[in-house]
Amino acid sequence: MNIKINVAGTLIPGVDCKKPLIIAGPCSAETEEQVITVARELAAMGIKVFRAGIWKPRTRPDAFEGVGAAGLAWLRRVREETGMKVATEVANVKHVYEALKNSVDVLWIGARTTANPFAVQEIADSLRGVDVTVLVKNPVNPDVELWIGALERVSAAGITHIGAIHRGFSSYVKSVYRNDPHWQIPIELRRRIPGLPIINDPSHISGKREMIMELCQSAIDLDFDGLMVETHCSPEQAWSDSAQQVTPQHLEYIIKNMVLRKQDVDNKNAVTLEELRMQIDKLDDEVLNVMEQRMNISEKIGLFKKENNVTILQTNRWNELLKKRINTGLSKGLSEGFVQKIYSAIHEESIQHQKMVMKN
Ligand code: PEP
Ligand code: MN
Repeated sequence: MNIKINVAGTLIPGVDCKKPLIIAGPCSAETEEQVITVARELAAMGIKVFRAGIWKPRTRPDAFEGVGAAGLAWLRRVREETGMKVATEVANVKHVYEALKNSVDVLWIGARTTANPFAVQEIADSLRGVDVTVLVKNPVNPDVELWIGALERVSAAGITHIGAIHRGFSSYVKSVYRNDPHWQIPIELRRRIPGLPIINDPSHISGKREMIMELCQSAIDLDFDGLMVETHCSPEQAWSDSAQQVTPQHLEYIIKNMVLRKQDVDNKNAVTLEELRMQIDKLDDEVLNVMEQRMNISEKIGLFKKENNVTILQTNRWNELLKKRINTGLSKGLSEGFVQKIYSAIHEESIQHQKMVMKN
């Protein structure tokens, strides 16, 4: 399905969306004073889009679940006093109705909601005929199809101010991240829907403020369109996600020290890049030729095994081969994980080829 996207630069009408667009504000709206104080500081820094969660999807029922509709009046005040656009999360039709009634400019669909197509469809249906910006967070599980499906549902409802937020994916294994970024997933999203603005959310990926800066830089390096950073005047006292929120001053420091990247090289350097890319293309052709030859030999081996009635898989040989290749790889500066992955894939393909021969 085709996703109709408003021409570049108009993700949020009235905001100059040149890269990186910064969306900042607290995880949750807690009190009117907390909201207004942080909003004033952010506006003074030049931030144009303010975020605050009004309804909070919390994992456990005893956590703070947001102030609810009452907080929307505070967002209206932020809009009127500072001129910033305001953004909040919606998880059902009632949220959409309340948010639109209070002129919220940007609605985002949270990670837990994106994972549920029924919920996304109901939200999308309630947005028919409405001209509002909608950002779709990735689902909690690392499934690019589910993410695309949610974007398609919103798009099919006629929303053209549409974008995605990459907030990482939950995982059972412990890692340095609160939610593993799996960068290849937003990269695949970009490949599948060219032109779709993608905003990175380093706060929910890292879960800790110490990592926000390096994640912002990673996102810039990967040509993300914007950043959504949870910001609070007293992060330690925050009612939700306290460890990952930064102060406006901390955010200002990050913005000033981020190294921005150009998408294209200027002409003078383009030749060098072009040449290097040609060398890469040539090497890749060689890699594939070698693989073709390797599989031809695998087929001969398959034939031999068939004629002599021996099994395809010979674990000892495979273990030995892998050990040797890892050592050779290490001596060439290739990491163990990389060599292991390549050889698992080669081995799998080789078994496929041998199976084909054995069947005939
Ligand atoms: C949030 O942005 O505060 C939030 C709850 O995000 P997520 O849906 O990514 O968990
Ligand atoms: Mn949060």
